Amino acid sequence: MADAILLVEDEPQIRRFVGTALADDGFSTLEAGSLAEAVDALDRQTPVLAVIDLGLPDGDGIGLIRQLRQWSRMPILVLSARDAEAEKVRALDAGADDYLTKPFGIAELRARVRALARRRPPVDETAVVSFGGVRVDRVRREVTRDGVPIHLTPIEYRLLCLFLAQAGRVLTHRHILREVWGPGNAERGHYLRIYVGHLRQKLEADPARPNHLLTEIGVGYRFQIEDLAP
Ligand code: CA
Repeated sequence: MADAILLVEDEPQIRRFVGTALADDGFSTLEAGSLAEAVDALDRQTPVLAVIDLGLPDGDGIGLIRQLRQWSRMPILVLSARDAEAEKVRALDAGADDYLTKPFGIAELRARVRALARRRPPVDETAVVSFGGVRVDRVRREVTRDGVPIHLTPIEYRLLCLFLAQAGRVLTHRHILREVWGPGNAERGHYLRIYVGHLRQKLEADPARPNHLLTEIGVGYRFQIEDLAP
């Protein structure tokens, strides 16, 4: 199956024109005309790259970029009619990799997409991750356990997303504190212990003997997707 590119653009002519050009380069497109359609598309399939227009009927594409960056490193190319420097900086700060101002030439778009596609991460990233009866939908920001919705606070959710994005790797206390609480919080190990405890209460079958959110004594934590229990 051809690698899919998410194309979020509300003007149908541009969608058609870009879709045809990407097909010539061997990509399929997941087309979305709004932020809501983009969320639906991401639930169905995981693209290798995203092309996102900033001005969309139901909001700003920058919100979608920020959301994608919480769980994915897929290359993001922004399309926008806005040529203000500040807009470009805002999109890049939010996690976009490259920027193309409308109107653009199709040859340039194809060249940028090919360059970004070569840089894409080799790991599998999907919007929905499941472990031990828990299902995390990182596009809709919904967590369920055995089908029952679980409420996570914003910090708990950020912490969980960090663990999922780096599943299998040992993360140091310092790294986690910096990523979740921000620079200047690297010494606040007690915050982390408390929040890890909360996450285990909410997500683990036996919080006292966790199967997924594992302690690496003296170092940090490791998130394991696979069940350790027989
Ligand atoms: Ca638009």
